[in-house]
Amino acid sequence: MKVFINKIIPDHGLGLLKQAGVEVTMWREPSVLTREQAIAFCKDHDAFLSAGQAGLDEGFFRECSHLKVVALHSVGFDGVDIAAATQLGIPIGNTPNVLNKATAETALLLMLTVARRALYLHRKIKKGEWGVSQPTQDLGFDLAGKTLGIVGLGRIGAELARMCTQSWGMKIVYHNRTRNEEAEKEFGATWLPFEELLEQSDCVSVHTALTEETRGLFGYEQFKRMKPSAIFINTARGGVHREDDLIRALRERLIYGAGLDVTDPEPMSPDSPLLQMDNAVVFPHIGSSTVETRNKMSRCAAENILAGLKGERLPYPVNPEVYS
Ligand code: NAP
Repeated sequence: MKVFINKIIPDHGLGLLKQAGVEVTMWREPSVLTREQAIAFCKDHDAFLSAGQAGLDEGFFRECSHLKVVALHSVGFDGVDIAAATQLGIPIGNTPNVLNKATAETALLLMLTVARRALYLHRKIKKGEWGVSQPTQDLGFDLAGKTLGIVGLGRIGAELARMCTQSWGMKIVYHNRTRNEEAEKEFGATWLPFEELLEQSDCVSVHTALTEETRGLFGYEQFKRMKPSAIFINTARGGVHREDDLIRALRERLIYGAGLDVTDPEPMSPDSPLLQMDNAVVFPHIGSSTVETRNKMSRCAAENILAGLKGERLPYPVNPEVYS
């Protein structure tokens, strides 16, 4: 059995595949494969482990309908035509839960960085502008006691709620399509209509998947509804906010600041005005980028591949309906 891996994954997962006697081809070049190159490799393999690949659309799955399994090295599966894969009987796997803490920490890191103006102050020192510190100068604000609005209170959102209630005594309000009663019990979280959440939150953090429903969810009107003292954080997907509207909202000081781990497009252009702004912080999609988390993700992906190759149910299936 042969698996094709389109990027360099940690030895944890790789070792698992090799121990099981699976033949592995791993694309080690620094360039990203085109859709056509990925198809060509997949045609010669039984399984595909994808650490981010554009064009996993219906055409891709039709060309590669022989694949016994496609294992994503991520929890998100936007950009993958799940319905087409299911129709062709291809199980798709992902890596849920193991990255909850790392991604929630990234959101928290962005919240703190923006609230305490850390990047702006770092730049100020670099420019030789430390100067005389006045007690009234360069003040940020406390997260303690503030209201955190979570849009998409699922696995990662819950982890962030846990950290922010336990360590900062923040009040949690949230918006999902369905009520999360477990979170309501654990964090005393209050469900609010989307617009009310925007109006009441001191920090809004997005944790929904990118879907047709959530694409462009945050535009100028939504930023305008937020408090001028509030922070916008996105560690979900760049497509959930409209970047031009965010830039305009920050320029007009409609909100206090923004922290992004995800941008639209990715990679972000070095010319983006967001990179010049004092009230914006951008990371290059590092939500799950810790050694421990990436090791665990590679294991999940390898476990999905091994199960799929054996014709068994994947341990972490995205489309369990493929079995019915
Ligand atoms: P999850 O457990 O499925 O949580 C997603 C939450 O979003 C659910 O509670 C869902 O509740 C809610 N939701 C979905 N559609 C919604 C809508 N239209 N309006 C309001 N709420 C909606 O997923 P997760 O594991 O926490 O991951 C969330 C996302 O984070 C992933 O899809 C991925 O894109 C992103 N992510 C990013 C990184 C990174 O590196 N930055 C790392 C990991 C994950 P309802 O179904 O009740 O609406």
